[in-house]
Amino acid sequence: MSLDHAKIAAVVKEAYDKFSQAAGGENASYIPYLASVPSSLVGVTVVTKDGTVFECGDSNYEFALESISKVFSLALALEDVGAEEVHNKIGADPTGLPFNSVMALELHGGKPLSPLVNAGAMATVSLIKASNPEDRWSRILGMQSQLAGRQIALSEEINRSEQTTNFHNRAIAWLLYSAGTMYSDPMAACDVYTRQCSTLISSKDLAVMGATLAAGGINPLNKQRILKAENVPHILAAMTMEGLYDSSGDWAYTVGLPGKSGVGGGILAVAPGQLAIAGFSPPLDPIGNSVRGQLMVAFIAKELGLNLYAVN
Ligand code: GLU
Repeated sequence: MSLDHAKIAAVVKEAYDKFSQAAGGENASYIPYLASVPSSLVGVTVVTKDGTVFECGDSNYEFALESISKVFSLALALEDVGAEEVHNKIGADPTGLPFNSVMALELHGGKPLSPLVNAGAMATVSLIKASNPEDRWSRILGMQSQLAGRQIALSEEINRSEQTTNFHNRAIAWLLYSAGTMYSDPMAACDVYTRQCSTLISSKDLAVMGATLAAGGINPLNKQRILKAENVPHILAAMTMEGLYDSSGDWAYTVGLPGKSGVGGGILAVAPGQLAIAGFSPPLDPIGNSVRGQLMVAFIAKELGLNLYAVN
């Protein structure tokens, strides 16, 4: 089924008009930079697998990628070491605990369970093939850029803000190391992970990245194959299980699409074979998901009939 472009354009505008003023939520404050981003910013973008872009609001405002970066480093690790090794070493289950939980590691003998929680993301970084940490970092930035179809850049300001406050993540990296589930130098993995969270992307970039997944690994703008098609279902499964933190189950139940959010206010949902929807607005609910972003993305998915579990 191919969706009507006029319908998508109308639904994107309606989502923005309905929810861009929605109240509630607060910017993340544990990373100082994030607290300073204007809370009133709102952007929403849909990109189809044929590369058509539909956008509204602040869709070109560049915000911190944060946790959504975990999806793209997972993609690179899958390309590098294959699905089986990622599954064995990281896992594919929700932790049922917050994204930076230490207890989740304790409960499972140091196995992170998901590449989309902090422990699993740092272990995933450590699996990426590289001759040294700088090489690993440039490969991750290269993957983000290839998926977005343009050169993505690190924000020195965000990176500084994160690197000087990421003590909890450093502790998690050492716990992984002590359990034998960290596969490179732990502080180097934490440093590179922190950088991957500190890149700047817009909701349009995010939708292109997601549309590359929706198209089975082919960037819809430049038609280049970025990922092996066989790796994409593993990425989407991980997003379904743990993409929206502790409300991933609620998201699957109500929206029915693989998604991923970040504490920078970004949120992405992928309709396989069709399109991706990206929203951005900084205020987060207590779980860590953008309040307006969730409302806009869920509305668009519903209006376009994209729930994967619906039998049409
Ligand atoms: N850099 C953030 C952290 O590691 C990302 C968290 C997130 O977006 O969930 O704490």
